Amino acid sequence: MYMKTIRKYNRGVGVLSLLVILAGVIIVVMAVKPASVCEQTLAYDVGSINPKFNITKEEIVGLLGGAENIWEEGMGMNLFQYQPDADFKINLVFDERQRKTIAERRAREFLEKGGNSYEAVTKKYKSLLSLHKAGLKQYNERVASYEERLNKYNKEVAYYNSKGGASKEKYKELENTRIGFKSEVAGLNKTLKELNTLNSRVNTLAKEINKVAGTYNTKVAQYNNVFGASVTFDQGEYTGSEINVYQFDKKSDLRLVLTHEFGHALNLDHVENPTSVMYYLMGKQDLNNPKLSSEDIFALKTECGIK
Ligand SMILES: [Zn+2]
Repeated sequence: MYMKTIRKYNRGVGVLSLLVILAGVIIVVMAVKPASVCEQTLAYDVGSINPKFNITKEEIVGLLGGAENIWEEGMGMNLFQYQPDADFKINLVFDERQRKTIAERRAREFLEKGGNSYEAVTKKYKSLLSLHKAGLKQYNERVASYEERLNKYNKEVAYYNSKGGASKEKYKELENTRIGFKSEVAGLNKTLKELNTLNSRVNTLAKEINKVAGTYNTKVAQYNNVFGASVTFDQGEYTGSEINVYQFDKKSDLRLVLTHEFGHALNLDHVENPTSVMYYLMGKQDLNNPKLSSEDIFALKTECGIK
C-alpha cells in the first residue's frame, strides 16, 4: 500500500511538470501569433431588436443559424455558436436606412400594381382589337358577297327591262330578291354600327393605355431616381464586439447581411467577385441558396493559415 502511494505521487509530479512546460510553450507561441479565428468558436447572442423591423428573435436566431452554416459548411469548422447571454450581440438598429427600405418596398408594391393595371388594360385592348378585326373581316366579306349578288340582280333587271318586262313569275322572284336585299342591308348596317361602337371602345382603351403607361413610366423614373442606387453592405456593421444591422428587405436579405458581417467577425476583408459573400456590394449573390465563393474560401483559409 505504502509503495503504491509513493509511485502514484511520483507520476503526479511528472505529469504536472510536463504541463507547465507545455503551457510555457503555448504562451510563447501566442505572443508571436494570436490564436486564429478558425481555432475558436465565437459565441453570439441576439441583442436589441427594434420592433419596426417586424421580425421575431426566433426568426433572427434561425437566420443566424443559416449564416453560421454557410461559413461552417464551407470550412468544416465550428466557427460560431448561438449562446443566450453571450457577450457578442447581434442587434437590429432602426434608422434612416430601414425607413428608406420600407418606403422603397411600398413604392415598389405601388409600381407593381401600376404594372398590373397596365397589363390588364393592354390585355383587354388586345382582345377587343382582335374581336374588331375579326368582325370587320367578316363584315367586309358579307358586303363583297352582297355587292356581287346586287350586281347580278341589277344586270338581270336591266336585261328584262330591255326586253320590255319579265314574266309574272320572274318578276315575283326578282322582287323577293330585292326585299331580301333590303333586310340584308339593314343587317349589314346594324353590324357596322356595332363594329363602330367596338372601334371607339378600342380607341378609348388605347388612350387609357397611353395614360396608364405615361403615369407608370413617370413613377418608374421617380422610383429609379430615389431608390435606384446599388445597395452596399453598409446595411450592417461589425464593430469588433457586436454586429449591428441597419437595413434589410426580405429575410433572405438579412441572412446574407449577417453572413457578410460574420465574415468580418472572422477578420476577413472584402474580396473580389460579385457573387462572393464578402463582396462589398449586395446583388449578385444567390439569396435563396447563399454559398461561399472560391474567393471567400480562399480568404478564410488564408486567415486560418490553411493551404
Ligand atoms: Zn463589408
